[in-house]
Amino acid sequence: MRLYALTCGYIRSRKNVFVPDAPREEIIESPMPAFAVLHPRGHVLFDTGPHPGVFQDALARWGGLAKAFEPLGDERSGILAQLESIDLKPEDFRYVVNSHLHFDHAGGNQFFPKSGFLVSKREMEWAQKPENEGKGYFKADWDHPLAYREIEAPFDLYGDGSLLIISLPGHTPGHQGLLVRLKNDGAMILSGDSVPCEENYLASKIPRNHLDEVEARKTIQDLHDLIKKEKALLIHGHDPAQWEKIRKAPAYYE
Ligand SMILES: [Zn+2]
Repeated sequence: MRLYALTCGYIRSRKNVFVPDAPREEIIESPMPAFAVLHPRGHVLFDTGPHPGVFQDALARWGGLAKAFEPLGDERSGILAQLESIDLKPEDFRYVVNSHLHFDHAGGNQFFPKSGFLVSKREMEWAQKPENEGKGYFKADWDHPLAYREIEAPFDLYGDGSLLIISLPGHTPGHQGLLVRLKNDGAMILSGDSVPCEENYLASKIPRNHLDEVEARKTIQDLHDLIKKEKALLIHGHDPAQWEKIRKAPAYYE
């Protein structure tokens, strides 16, 4: 198995969106990651990044949200260009796992018409609620004729323990992560937005954009327990400092 970390551009925002006690004026540029896992039984993509159109016209795709989250990237930042850089095409992916259906994680879903999508049941129900449209969710991102399969984590993708979808609610009701057990590099947890920055994990600081604080606290505790058990590397969803240190495509973990 191989794990490639892909950078689908960056978003510039106030740091206090993620770390509530950060100084109001502090601005960060966070990565928008996606991950390609090459598995003998079929490749799996974790998240699809933002729609590549945001790098030309953010307002058209994200409306008012584009003010709080300014996308930074170019034609190389879209998920297809990222995959092309490691010689992969959408058809190569048997499955896509969405951590959740927000604009920076599911914006490239439409480019994978042949893949099976594994999204949590709670997330799908939440994204479908009309009142949530525009609040991180845009039908233009996720509402396409795709092979969505609603799952309930824990979900052992190939039944061999190598790819385990885990439930990490709090940021959104149906948020999920992926535990990847690699032979040489050990276990890694792709945690989406459950703990976007290291401070959220280490100091249990709940981001302002988490919907349920009680669930978010339980998720952080669950992650601590799992990491201890698996001796796993926790990959944060939007941590600029950690992302610098992550082995990024074309390099890979195996
Ligand atoms: Zn995000």
